[in-house]
Amino acid sequence: MTARHAAEILFTARRALALTGAGVSAESGIPTFRGEGGLWKQYDPVKVASIEYFMADPSAYWTVSKERGRVALAARPNPGHHALAALEAGGRLAAVVTQNTDGLHQESGSRNVIEIHGSSRTVQCLDCASREPRADVQARLHEEMPPRCKVCGGTYLKPTVVLFGEPMPQAAITKAFALAREADVLLVVGSSLVVYPAADIPLVALRSGARMIVINAEPTPYDELAEVVIQGRSGEVLPEIVDLIGG
Ligand code: NAD
Ligand code: ZN
Repeated sequence: MTARHAAEILFTARRALALTGAGVSAESGIPTFRGEGGLWKQYDPVKVASIEYFMADPSAYWTVSKERGRVALAARPNPGHHALAALEAGGRLAAVVTQNTDGLHQESGSRNVIEIHGSSRTVQCLDCASREPRADVQARLHEEMPPRCKVCGGTYLKPTVVLFGEPMPQAAITKAFALAREADVLLVVGSSLVVYPAADIPLVALRSGARMIVINAEPTPYDELAEVVIQGRSGEVLPEIVDLIGG
């Protein structure tokens, strides 16, 4: 199973959908949760990235996410992000449904991006609901812990991501599943496919007749349902596929 086979499938697709996870941004320097070099080896994200942990002590939450936020804000899109944007621009990809919160798909030029776990680029005050850019909050973390709301002085400033234990953004989830039902090809990239409801998207797409391509650094639970499985780095595999389609 090769990049050529994946290119052939995408070349004939009418409504291809990409489902991306943390692996797509690994080559931009943002650590994944699971897999090689994953953050689960350092600490348990289910604990430190949970709403209970945040509500119990916003300072503790921000102390952990301070370094991670710095890395994410400094990250730039890699060739994998650019390849997906090129597929969309060339009419080969209808949309990107992403579990990522880093905004790198949009930055690379992808237009139709559905963020099912929210965005870490913005922070919201849980007291007065006002929002400000994550970069602004990040800049004052060294002098203010926890960071305070500029409008009301509140101390519960939370990135607009879905923490463990929080409800999913309903509109984005509905859109993602509608796209999955309409898709004739599902391109899964850099997701361990174990986080729900994202991990249900391949089943919904397959049930509606989609062909599936999986590109991931390691095996996923859905590999045997895929027509093409490419084990590798998305920043290398995706540009190769785009080249094959273009050439
Ligand atoms: P995950 O961390 O569970 O799994 C990432 C997968 O990517 C692993 O299977 C790993 O083998 C693979 N991978 C690593 N490097 C790769 C590469 N260069 N090319 C291809 N594959 C590679 O990620 P997930 O399934 O997306 O779920 C974790 C949750 O954590 C997500 O829902 C997301 O909300 C959040 N998260 C987001 C970011 C981000 O925004 N960049 C980063 C970490 C975690
Ligand atoms: Zn406020």
